[in-house]
Amino acid sequence: MYFKSFEIKYRYDKDGYIMEWMLSVSFGEIFLKGKNRHIFYKTAIDNIKRNIRDIPYEDMYSESSKLYIKADKKDFDKLKNNILKVFGISYVSYVIKTSKNLDDIYKACKLDLEEYFTGKNYTFKVDCKRTDKAFEFKSPELSAKIGGFILRDFPNLKVNVHNPDFRVFIDVKDNVYVYSKRFKGLGGLPIGSSGKGLLLLSGGIDSPVAGFMVAKRGMKIDCLHFHSYPFTSKRALQKAIDLAEIMSAYTGKMRVYSVNLANIYKAINQNCERRETTILSRRFMMRIANKISEANGYQALITGESLGQVASQTIESVAVINDSSDLPILRPLIAMDKKDIIDISLKIGSYDKSIEPYDDCCSIFAPDSPVTKPKLNFIKMSEENLDIDALEDEAIKNMEIIDIA
Ligand code: ATP
Ligand code: MG
Repeated sequence: MYFKSFEIKYRYDKDGYIMEWMLSVSFGEIFLKGKNRHIFYKTAIDNIKRNIRDIPYEDMYSESSKLYIKADKKDFDKLKNNILKVFGISYVSYVIKTSKNLDDIYKACKLDLEEYFTGKNYTFKVDCKRTDKAFEFKSPELSAKIGGFILRDFPNLKVNVHNPDFRVFIDVKDNVYVYSKRFKGLGGLPIGSSGKGLLLLSGGIDSPVAGFMVAKRGMKIDCLHFHSYPFTSKRALQKAIDLAEIMSAYTGKMRVYSVNLANIYKAINQNCERRETTILSRRFMMRIANKISEANGYQALITGESLGQVASQTIESVAVINDSSDLPILRPLIAMDKKDIIDISLKIGSYDKSIEPYDDCCSIFAPDSPVTKPKLNFIKMSEENLDIDALEDEAIKNMEIIDIA
């Protein structure tokens, strides 16, 4: 366990019962299996701590595979919203911690029901999980007893074991935790469990969503942004950094590499056919990304490309772009409709930033009629007019690095 030990500190209500509101976090199943379990657990907890560092909480400990956080109840919603951004979490719940005593357990249930369910005609079910097998009541017995008490005291509530409106959960461990209010997590795998990738982050809608999707499958990501100052404004770079910051609530801390393509665009403009600018610059981006990856251990590149979305995102372009990369290029959005991509960007909170109107280097240098079906041999012939390695190495030498803590 990540937290070695914890002191059991009880708080008593005015009648002398042990009652304490807390948040609990439960993790996905895959997460709990296998050799790397404690590493995943530690990563998830580090990300949780990072996401709630600006919100006061008193203490955090784990007890049989769940994480418990002591905090002021007025901060629960804020804490919950930030914790739910961490991948690998199945639920966050508002629980009442109490002792292993039937009276206390029922008192906790009552407190919970009074908070959330009085006066409404709901159906419910009591769901007990007994981790402590020494506890005097077996799970069905405890469920029946507590269910009976609830029916006696709450005339508006009825039992429905198959399809209840809500469940009263009772976890019997070293302590007992009672709760009915729980919020579903994003699922996915904890960051760091699927290697390390480099996201090509533009200022648009798509690339942050692409990064979110691979991060959800456990890939640790950093970002690479290309700008072309002074042809594009400094604000374009700031926008990419802002987007990375928004993503980092999900992905954890990230590094943003910022590379200036101005000289490369100039060289392309002077030496190649204008209609090839987009595909040529994409191949530069990929080669530079490969070089940065080789030096820093990234195992894949990630882009926000989606088939047919714009003229340059044809299968022919995809093929010519792939040729410029030794690393696999992951394109999680390749078969998605724009509307569905926008829905995700709204959900993760990047949309409003993405639609801010700052010029991207691609749009500034975009030709009026780009080649939509590039042929690799022609593109390679055009590249012979350029000193590719020197241009790339110069761009990498002047690269800036911004760390998002
Ligand atoms: P996005 O919404 O992510 O900007 P897009 O729909 O504008 O994508 P393109 O401009 O064709 O599509 O870019 C496709 C992908 O290439 C982007 O999703 C991104 O991964 C990468 N890319 C494009 N421009 C840049 C840039 N300036 N810096 C880093 N990556 C970029
Ligand atoms: Mg774009």
